[in-house]
Amino acid sequence: MKRENVHAGACGFDLSDQRLVRPFSYVGGKWIAGDDGASFDVTDPADGRVLGAMAALSAGQSGAAVDAAQSAFDDWSGLLPQDRSAILRRWFDQIMAHREDLAHLMVREQGKPLSEALGEIEYAASFVEFYAEEAKRPNIEGVTSHLPDAEMELWREPVGVAALITPWNFPSAMLTRKAAAALAAGCTVVAHPSSETPFSATALAELGERAGLPAGVFNIVTGKARIVVEPWTTDVRVRALSFTGSTEIGRLLYRQCADTVKRLVMELGGHAPVIVFKGADLDTAVEETIKAKFATSGQDCLAANRIYVERPIYDEFCARFTAATKALSVGVGMDDPDIGPLMNESAVQKQEAQVADALEQGARLGCGGERHAAGRLFYEPTVLLDVPDAAAIMGEETFGPVAPITPFDTEGEVIARANATEYGLVAYLHSLDPRRIYRVSRALQFGMVAVNRTKVTGAPIPFGGAKQSGLGREGARLGMEEFTEIKYVCRDWA
Ligand code: NAP
Repeated sequence: MKRENVHAGACGFDLSDQRLVRPFSYVGGKWIAGDDGASFDVTDPADGRVLGAMAALSAGQSGAAVDAAQSAFDDWSGLLPQDRSAILRRWFDQIMAHREDLAHLMVREQGKPLSEALGEIEYAASFVEFYAEEAKRPNIEGVTSHLPDAEMELWREPVGVAALITPWNFPSAMLTRKAAAALAAGCTVVAHPSSETPFSATALAELGERAGLPAGVFNIVTGKARIVVEPWTTDVRVRALSFTGSTEIGRLLYRQCADTVKRLVMELGGHAPVIVFKGADLDTAVEETIKAKFATSGQDCLAANRIYVERPIYDEFCARFTAATKALSVGVGMDDPDIGPLMNESAVQKQEAQVADALEQGARLGCGGERHAAGRLFYEPTVLLDVPDAAAIMGEETFGPVAPITPFDTEGEVIARANATEYGLVAYLHSLDPRRIYRVSRALQFGMVAVNRTKVTGAPIPFGGAKQSGLGREGARLGMEEFTEIKYVCRDWA
């Protein structure tokens, strides 16, 4: 197949459709370079090679993206929902038709194993497909009147321009989960992708353009977050801000948005407990906990961060889990191993620090515990046993392939330990006792509870966290409603 390199310049990607490699921001339907050609390098975490230089926009250019989104708003929100739906559906078709190229691109800039990247592209596309349908269904709701002769209705209207800020661990799915919902609701979008993985976002914009998203409706602004995102937080025209990333940056954006009282959706950090009760199916518990810990090389907000096992089955669980961990393959994403590189040096240093701290506090090493020979950013899949609650890893997000295990004695004790965190995104529970499953699911202070399984996500479910794991929900009808305002109309014909 002929490979064009029209837009890629020095980019180190090798796709069958090289036009998907867009090293520019996308504003008002145009691909734009940074003022004075400002750019930043994007590297391959597997080997540190520079893949390409991406445009770094200025604060003024970021403001121009809001101008473009604001100008496009009336036409986009005024379209028949069926017409917005048709464009979203074409975007879905484009993403699916290019899923292999998009997955290759993601493996190169993010590092994840190829089959996980393909899975993410399909997951990303599923939000566009789902919201193409939901776009047609924000029905007007009637209210049974409590006032004589009055007619009452609730209308759902798009809030206006929505700012979306996305992380590097799911560079495509986190963008479509927000953007498809906002666009379906009738909002226009300014989006900032993580500077670690911006090419996945600009490729989606290229496909959006091919699908017929009108100029100004979907804008991608690359560059330093503090320069390009901060102006959005104080801009009165930006009516909603939806952020996925760390709790630390979420808190900062929350404060910055206070003065303009924006609608906020926050998908923040997690610190998922896995609780395995005696009587659980141990094969399932081990297999599912391996998935819950090591998917995305552990760099997942849903990653199992601490594993509590009831004492009578503790030794057997630890032996089986450690054996399964030792069997995991580590390597370069394109070779499709179980575990790829971590995103950057600070991520590897975090594994080293948490492992050293746990060992110092009395934990035992089950396996791993070192950088992996595959390269500078690879870390061995690691198991820590008998980890005390005071160890840092039992309180902080790990975001890497290190699994701490600890025993427990009673249901009440493990619920209290699982809930003793500022986070509340997801909790995993293994038991075959229906009453216990009900009691514990009720008692866990988490936005999502997975029972005897790991995968719970998908476009039809409301994804989100309790406590400091976030605000609002993404996915499902609720995800679109976050981008709407309710207008209550009370009519009297007299
Ligand atoms: P991050 O450092 O918080 O960055 C996330 C986004 O915020 C990036 O686009 C980043 O842009 C931007 N950002 C950074 N500093 C900013 C600032 N001062 N002002 C405005 N924007 C700023 O998070 P990450 O390291 O990319 O992602 C990992 C975190 O995301 C983890 O905590 C994980 O749990 C969380 N996460 C949560 C979910 C969920 O749904 N709950 C899903 C995935 C990930 P730059 O890259 O340009 O700095």
